[in-house]
Formats: sequence, structure tokens, C-alpha cells
Amino acid sequence: MSTTTVERQPSDSQPRFPSTKKRLLTGLRPTGKLHLGNYVGTLEKDIELQNDPHYTCFFLVADYHALTTSAERAPEIRQNVRETLLDMLAAGIDPEKSTLYVQSTVGEVTELFLLFTMLVSVTRAQRIPTLKEQIRDLKLETASLGLLSYPVLQAADILMVRGEVVPVGKDQLSHIELTREIARRFNQLYAPIFPEPEGLIGKIAKLPGTDGKPKMSKSLGNVILLSDDPKTVERQVMRMYTDPTRIHATDPGHVRGNPVFVYHDAFNDNKEEVADLKRRYRAGKVGDVEVKRKLAAALNRFLEPIRERRAYYEARPKLVDEIVLAGMHRAGSEARETLRLAREAMGFTHYLAERFGEGAR
Ligand code: ATP
Ligand code: MG
Repeated sequence: MSTTTVERQPSDSQPRFPSTKKRLLTGLRPTGKLHLGNYVGTLEKDIELQNDPHYTCFFLVADYHALTTSAERAPEIRQNVRETLLDMLAAGIDPEKSTLYVQSTVGEVTELFLLFTMLVSVTRAQRIPTLKEQIRDLKLETASLGLLSYPVLQAADILMVRGEVVPVGKDQLSHIELTREIARRFNQLYAPIFPEPEGLIGKIAKLPGTDGKPKMSKSLGNVILLSDDPKTVERQVMRMYTDPTRIHATDPGHVRGNPVFVYHDAFNDNKEEVADLKRRYRAGKVGDVEVKRKLAAALNRFLEPIRERRAYYEARPKLVDEIVLAGMHRAGSEARETLRLAREAMGFTHYLAERFGEGAR
């Protein structure tokens, strides 16, 4: 038994750490460079809220999560960590305002994950829809135990910093639901430590791929990257899937659900141009080529400041290292405090700490 006993307050749903600021956490997997889907799904909201004084923001590069679908490509993941950091900084994550860190540098998360795995049944984990989607999309023969427990590790990431708000794409909402269940279960069983976080859906819940598939995904390769150069953007856009029912430019076309117009709506800052293109498209008065050329130009306008910031950080590798080191210290101290509270609440103390005090850890 622990020497420090904690009062159990199962009926009190108020988490510890009352704070006037809301805590936000976003994680991105270093499975490849970041794309426009990641931007509208999460980064855009992240950046908006990091500039809001009511939020304290944590951003992590989830390298353990990347292993869940590609353990054999661990060295590649290491390289991608750097690219993902650069992409996040390029998109506008500001290390002066937020904590940016790499998941594997804060090892405490694995311990919290372990504790949480005891609170989730295997059948509950198997019901998470992304599991089946990943197996199908990546043509995996079978899921690793790591992939099955992906959302539990995500819950550990979020609750580690006692996150309350998690901007995510629609595909990840089921993970936030599981996180809430874990928090609730823990709070009821032991002590009210954890908040029940909310998922926050971005402007576009699911940006389609350039191939017309419902989701742009790093692992599907149907992407426009935040780091693509103008020529690549143009090439990708010109190859994009549009309205399959439209054969000639004079045929009236469909705007709704047409990926090219979804992108126009999301990224073209010239709203009049978008409205005009839509009108003419519906009337069969504009060809796909013009619609796409204008989209490529709009995307390049949108991506230019992102490219500039990327070049700035790319030229300063030491600065990026310092940012990651500072992030590790900040997130690490949050993590140790959370773990201490979790262990204390469970009456489960490290053997040596129990014999010799916390200093023995
Ligand atoms: P992978 O294919 O390796 O899973 P991904 O492209 O899905 O990569 P993640 O790192 O898994 O990217 O997701 C990071 C965040 O971006 C999540 O919040 C996810 O919901 C969001 N996201 C990813 N793709 C899209 C998309 N096409 N539209 C909206 N949000 C997206
Ligand atoms: Mg994903």
C-alpha cells in the first residue's frame, strides 16, 4: 500500500487542476510530410487557438503512433519526425506561444498508456472504425497489438497534459470518444484527475484526396503537401478528379461534392472568383482547365508564406533542436506530475519510491 492515501471522490466529476485556460492538444503522425487535409482538419484551428489567450497549447509529433502501421520502417519514421516538425512550424505553430514536442522524448506516456489499457476491453478497442479502415486502406494482413491500442495511446497523449480540447479530422472523433470513456472510468474508479476532452472539428471535416477518394491521406499518396513547390502543386491539380459525369466543357457540371470546388471553397481567398466559377460550371460555360488553373494559383498563394517559414526553419537546424528540447522539458514536467497523481490515485506507487520516498525514483 502507498503511504500517501488519497480520498476517493467518485461522485465529484470536477477534475483537479482547475484552470482559467483551456488546454489543447494536437498530435500528428510522422508518416510523411503534412498535407492540405491535415491543415484544414487540425492545423488551422490549432493556429487560431494558439493565438487565443484563453488556450494553452501542446503539439506533438506522434512517432510511436507512426510505428503502429509501419514498424518495419522505423528509420524512415525518424526522418519524417524532422519533416513533420518543419511542416508544423511552417504552418504557423509558434514555439514562443505553444509547446511543440516529440512523443518518444517523453517516455512517461508509455506508462500512462499501460495503466489505461487496463480500463479498455478488447472488444471496445476492436469496435473503433479507424482500425478496420487502416487494415483495409493499407492492405495489412493483420493488425498489430499496437494498432489495436492506437486510440488508447492517443488518450494517454491527451490526458498526459490534461487536454480538454482536441482539434481533429472527422476520422479521429471516435478516438476522442474513447478518451472520454477512459477519463470517466479512471475518475470514477480512483480519483477525479482527468478532464473529459472534446473533439473540435475543423472547417472541412474530411478533405477529399486528389484522386477523388473521400480522404486525403499521407499513406494513400493522394495529397498536396504543404511543402510542395508551385510546379508540383500545378501538376497535382491538373491531374485532379472532378465531375465524372461531365464529358465536355459545355456540359452543365456538378459543384457539390466535386473535389476541385471543395478545395476552392477551402483555400481560394478570392470568393468572387469562386462564386463566378461555380456559376459558369453549373451552366456549362467554363472548362475544367480554367477551374484548375485558378485553383492551382490560389493554392500557391495560400502556400507561399508556409514555404517561406519552412525555409527559415530548414536553414536553422539548431533552433529546431532547441525548440524540441524545450518542448520535451515542458511536456515532460506535465507528464511526471500527471503520472504521480495517477499512481497516487490508484494507490500504486513505484516500489522504491514507496520504500525510500519519491527521490528514489
Ligand atoms: P495517415 O494516412 O498516416 O494516417 P493522415 O494523413 O491521416 O496520415 P494523421 O497524422 O493520421 O494524418 O492525422 C493528423 C490529423 O489530421 C488528424 O486530426 C486527422 O483527423 C487530420 N486529417 C488527416 N487527413 C485529413 C483530411 N483529409 N481531412 C481532414 N482532416 C484530416
Ligand atoms: Mg490518419
